[in-house]
Amino acid sequence: MSNQTDSLTAQFTDQPFHVMTKPIGPICNLDCTYCYYLHKEDLYPKGNKWKMADDCLASYIRQYIDTQPPGTAEVTFAWQGGEPTLLGLEFFERCVEIQKQHARPGMKIANTLQTNGILLDDDWCRFFLKNGFLVGLSIDGPAELHDAYRVDHQGQGSHAAVIAAIRKLKKFGVDFNALVVVNRLNGDYGARVYRYLRDAGCQYLQFIPIVEPSGIGRHAEGQVKASDHFTPFAAADTAVSSRSVLPEQFGTFLCDAFDEWIRRDVGRVFVQIFDQALSAWVGVEPSLCVFRRTCGRALAMEHNGDVYSCDHYVEPDHLLGNLNVVPLEELVNSGRQQEFGDAKLKTLPQYCLDCEVRHACNGECPKNRFLQTPDGADGLNFLCAGYRKFFNHVDPAMQQMAAFINKRQPAALIMEQHSDRPASAAPRSGPTPRRNDPCPCGSGRKYKSCCRKS
Ligand code: SF4
Ligand code: SF4
Repeated sequence: MSNQTDSLTAQFTDQPFHVMTKPIGPICNLDCTYCYYLHKEDLYPKGNKWKMADDCLASYIRQYIDTQPPGTAEVTFAWQGGEPTLLGLEFFERCVEIQKQHARPGMKIANTLQTNGILLDDDWCRFFLKNGFLVGLSIDGPAELHDAYRVDHQGQGSHAAVIAAIRKLKKFGVDFNALVVVNRLNGDYGARVYRYLRDAGCQYLQFIPIVEPSGIGRHAEGQVKASDHFTPFAAADTAVSSRSVLPEQFGTFLCDAFDEWIRRDVGRVFVQIFDQALSAWVGVEPSLCVFRRTCGRALAMEHNGDVYSCDHYVEPDHLLGNLNVVPLEELVNSGRQQEFGDAKLKTLPQYCLDCEVRHACNGECPKNRFLQTPDGADGLNFLCAGYRKFFNHVDPAMQQMAAFINKRQPAALIMEQHSDRPASAAPRSGPTPRRNDPCPCGSGRKYKSCCRKS
């Protein structure tokens, strides 16, 4: 065993872990054509009851809290689907009740819930506000971009309902993130999508690229050879769906959105990949699994307690076990799971190891590594050309922001060099951030461990 592997072994169980929980499995009231999760229905028998049973829920909450290291001040539960709101408010009221029973003295329990927004009404918003839920809302941009793929079971677009949900969340003061799936259609409109969501009042944005390998998913359809498109690397046997964003397209999308952000929104709009990049430039390893050297601490759990290595590997080969049979702690810290996480680094091709932006990219997610490098090695990320373009594009600005932060100045000063308006008109501050928000100085660290401390 190499020294490098030894050091990974020593670190693995010390790292915090996270479980994406699917209390209703893949069941959803929408039928988005690019959804990677709908076909997971096939993993469970026909007639299966898609609702986490109360004893399983109670066991999960207790074990998840108990497995956190001593001294943990805050534990975050993440609820996803499918569409978790289909379970009704009562289910989540019960979650909160059980969490209160098991929280250690002084421990804060946080909840995040990812939703398509269709069912959100005043009662849901009151509940979210009262219990401090952070809501993730899926929206792909203006109606003509969003409604192309985010449709209901009759093929009707869902944009109007999502906008209504945003209005309600804002009216009640509920914290929310907008999650944008970047695809072949909206992928041409980085600046437009960014501006649209910013102007709709979304302060926190995530851009998630859709990469569907050939024939995967409920709506698998006419496939396109990756080698037919912009990647310069050999990909003869590799195909992605016609919905998948293309590498150069994704890079341009991110660059265009970044150029909008850097002119006027640093410190008041938070874009996950920009924060992650800044973190890398100030010398702190990004927190998001896809940009870390190794992974394996972001697991997924199905409605019956089955625990999988990752949300993107909910498949029989990556089933670690069931928490009603094997303690969650054993599953999370198992040798098998560690191997899964370490493989992210061990399988990184030399081409990535030599890359000038590896510190920010780290080869991204293994699920997307199905190209060959120019020298014929396996394991290059399908989106490589896009990430390389983006990280090189932002390098000068990131260096400047990192320099500001190192001098304990706000990263937002960067706007004075990029704004097309007088510096005095550029926003220098936004709403007071919460303790766990990204720091408005743009350091990529949490507010509580950055400027709030100073
Ligand atoms: S496989 Fe990808 S999404 Fe899953 S934990 Fe690793 S980096 Fe994250
Ligand atoms: S940009 Fe490309 S070469 Fe560089 S680390 Fe990322 S995937 Fe590897």
